[in-house]
Amino acid sequence: MSKYWNDKVKEIEPYVPGEQPKDKKYIKLNTNENPYPPSKKVIEAMKNAVNDDLNENEVFIGNGSDEILAFAFMTFFSKDKQILFPDISYTFYKVYAELFNLDYKLIKLDENFDIPLEELKKPNGGVIIPNPNAPTGKYVDIDALRNLVEANKDSVVIIDEAYIDFGGESMVKFINDYDNLLVIQTLSKSRSLAGLRVGFALGHKDLIEGLNRIKNSINSYTIDRVALAGAKEAIKDNEYFEEITKKIINTREKVSKDLEKLDFKVLESKSNFVFASHNKVSGKFIYETLKDHGVLVRYFNKERIDNFLRITIGTDEEMGVLVEKLELILSNI
Ligand code: PMP
Repeated sequence: MSKYWNDKVKEIEPYVPGEQPKDKKYIKLNTNENPYPPSKKVIEAMKNAVNDDLNENEVFIGNGSDEILAFAFMTFFSKDKQILFPDISYTFYKVYAELFNLDYKLIKLDENFDIPLEELKKPNGGVIIPNPNAPTGKYVDIDALRNLVEANKDSVVIIDEAYIDFGGESMVKFINDYDNLLVIQTLSKSRSLAGLRVGFALGHKDLIEGLNRIKNSINSYTIDRVALAGAKEAIKDNEYFEEITKKIINTREKVSKDLEKLDFKVLESKSNFVFASHNKVSGKFIYETLKDHGVLVRYFNKERIDNFLRITIGTDEEMGVLVEKLELILSNI
């Protein structure tokens, strides 16, 4: 039991899956599973799958971090207590807040697109921010975030670290210092596995237990063992991870300079994308023209950012083409 669980989580009786004891070999007639093995072809495909139990009590694994975010909203936030998140941020937060009928306040980013952290220290029923933020790419340092967590002793602070591996420092090392800090990460970005659908949350064991209560009230088995096997290997293969993240960081720095030379204003990014606006030409026009030239970037038709483009960092070759196309488009203006 934790004071951060909402009333529903305290009351709910989660579904209890059929026993899966490991102490001896049973004739298992308790989980309605097929007694015959799956097709040999399937076995072949899964033969390298590892069956280790990753479930430490400070770790929660989910079907993508979007699912964990949904569970976290259901676990820690309550209708009668206003939650806070930035106005320009990951759009799913607003979607979940609406879906779960939560009261929320959008905290306006300042004129430099930084998160005004003092606003997130005012009384609240929960705080969630991405770090680095999306779509700005801007990063908040860990001392400022520790301050934020300390200032919110009565609510849960969720740090969504989807993009932390591209130059930021994770808050994970502080999960034992605070019982109200939940850090969420994903394999979708730095580990190149968006299609695998694996994310994870790290936090105090009571927070993790709360998430499990909700998961076990919805779908006890959200990740299959093949995905788990792939996830485990992805985490273990540090060498590849370092190589790829370094590559992306280098490309990001180069592209940022190239864009500035083309008269773009580029926000300082610690993620695998840059957020940029041209000083003379409209974002919408550049987005549409780039699309005609076969290059897709993200454009948000939204107040304050409707002149910006969110450009994901691709390979050096892809970014070379982007810059070439931009030179062409801008020289024809
Ligand atoms: N958080 C942020 C800030 C994101 O941009 C994304 C990706 N759209 C996610 C979470 C979700 O990622 P996934 O569900 O693939 O783990």
